[in-house]
Amino acid sequence: MDYAHILQRIHRDIAPLLTQGRVADYIPELGKVPATHFGMALVFADGRSHCVGDAAVPFSIQSISKLFACTLAFQLLGEDLWQRVGREPSGNAFNSLVQLEYEQGKPRNPFINAGALVVTDVLCSRFVQAETAMVQFLRRLSGNPAIDYDPRVAQSEREHADRNRAMAYFMKDFGRLEMPVDKVIDAYCRQCAITMSCEDLARAALFLAHGGVVPWSGERVLDASPTKRLSALMLTCGTYDAAGDFVYRVGLPAKSGVGGGIVAVLPGRWAVCVWSPGLDHSGNSLAGVQALEWLTTLSGHSIF
Ligand code: GLU
Repeated sequence: MDYAHILQRIHRDIAPLLTQGRVADYIPELGKVPATHFGMALVFADGRSHCVGDAAVPFSIQSISKLFACTLAFQLLGEDLWQRVGREPSGNAFNSLVQLEYEQGKPRNPFINAGALVVTDVLCSRFVQAETAMVQFLRRLSGNPAIDYDPRVAQSEREHADRNRAMAYFMKDFGRLEMPVDKVIDAYCRQCAITMSCEDLARAALFLAHGGVVPWSGERVLDASPTKRLSALMLTCGTYDAAGDFVYRVGLPAKSGVGGGIVAVLPGRWAVCVWSPGLDHSGNSLAGVQALEWLTTLSGHSIF
């Protein structure tokens, strides 16, 4: 399979779509990123990779951090994690509060904001600084020791986090959070503000394509069975309220973020990350989803 050629073709054909999405500006720092960026990195378990465009440019990983936070919490709690957070698609926006009241404050899944706050609460109760644990984890998974969070993005997010705060207080009232709300929100904002490139993220997600083991370092992140389960959650809940359409078009487990990044894995083969900041109406990268659809269509490789 000539992946190099496929990625070059995607890079060439994607240009007209780069101005069609809308950059997230509800976190003002994110709104400053030019919509015209496009990068893509595909990494194989044996270390080979193919990159195009801005694949080496760091960007705000935002909700992609929820995938790695959930991995850490799954490491710590195993199946008990699901006492704290569900594993069903929500059918609502990622930052919606509506279900929380009639479901007694238990979030539907770890990839919506409410669920991610519960996951961050788990990390805050186990680590002195949850965001530091996350940064160290991502440095190990990606092999890039320079990964860190962007304090300006974290601050910008903190200043506009009233909806997340409302969710956290609401869940606290239901007894769903152990740690103080301010501590959880602080760690969550920093975790979302971590910056990584497509190359970093594709490498960091590779353990999901490799039965839970980081192929190049040999670190076992999760056993094979929880790895399967996490990938299944990505498939059903990883791309906001558009997961059904995303799977229809792309056919891969994936996690997206409002920074415009999407990571996806083909179990047994490779991990890929695409980045383009313009979002569609669901909050997924408009060009990113199209690029992944072309990748699986042109290669004939998806999970189906
Ligand atoms: N930090 C963002 C928020 O809490 C993450 C959203 C996302 O990427 O889905 O709104």
